[in-house]
Amino acid sequence: MNRTVYLNGEYLPEDEAKVSIFDRGFLMADAVYEVVSVLDGKLLEFSGHIKRLERSLGELDMAKPKNFDNLLDIHRTLVARNNVQEGGVYLQITRGVADRDFVYPKDAEPTLVMFTQERPIIESPAAKTGMRIISTEDLRWGRRDIKTVQLLYPSMAKMMAKAAGVDDAWLVEDGFVTEGTSNNAYIVKDGKIITRSLSHDILHGITRASVLRYAAEAQMIVEERNFTIEEAQSADEAFITSASAFVTPVIEVDGAKLGGGTPGPVAGRLREIYIEESRKAGI
Ligand code: PMP
Repeated sequence: MNRTVYLNGEYLPEDEAKVSIFDRGFLMADAVYEVVSVLDGKLLEFSGHIKRLERSLGELDMAKPKNFDNLLDIHRTLVARNNVQEGGVYLQITRGVADRDFVYPKDAEPTLVMFTQERPIIESPAAKTGMRIISTEDLRWGRRDIKTVQLLYPSMAKMMAKAAGVDDAWLVEDGFVTEGTSNNAYIVKDGKIITRSLSHDILHGITRASVLRYAAEAQMIVEERNFTIEEAQSADEAFITSASAFVTPVIEVDGAKLGGGTPGPVAGRLREIYIEESRKAGI
């Protein structure tokens, strides 16, 4: 594979793009990221992702890189040069290069890295069969609303899921589900969609915002509140949302099968609506 990637103003073959060992993204996880999905060669939810990126930068007092205003053009160029039809564009901004120090450098030039990844979204196996998940304690830091690259614990939780022979993990804090390792979590009971409300405890999913809006437009009832794993185990169905998984059903929670172990109708309907609306709105 030899993709064209983007690094600080240049389009380069992937094996020629190099970042300094003094980059604070590398030394301190002092970096934020976004993933914009690509469907039919078009970008989905671009403005939502860029707004959240600006918010993440602001919360960390991190400067915008040069070319921030050209991000749409850079995304499109990468998608075109790599001929991506389905997948995503990964973008990372670090505070930049400075000798190792806990104190932030004031004048560092932010590093901007972007690359594409091809991945089936519409025909993903998990969308058809549904996902099996386990729960594990949420040991991440307290500002999960900022999309930083501190992904070691989510990575460990995914490895726990893999070791348990299932697909993913839901994270639990003070007895309540916060979210999935890389997605927002929902249960459905008696036709009601239940998902944790927005706070510093979870990432404010761009897909979550759209899906909740589509659900309301389709006259579905949405309750934004905490729920436990026990409540999830006795739910009629469950699902997750993220830019890369859209809406994907969950069919098993800590060994308890939901809805007879097959994807539920609410998740199915929301997935259909999300795909339909994405196809219309992609840019
Ligand atoms: N929560 C976490 C922890 C995530 O990593 C993600 C994926 N970026 C999400 C939720 C879903 O967010 P989005 O819909 O914006 O992809």
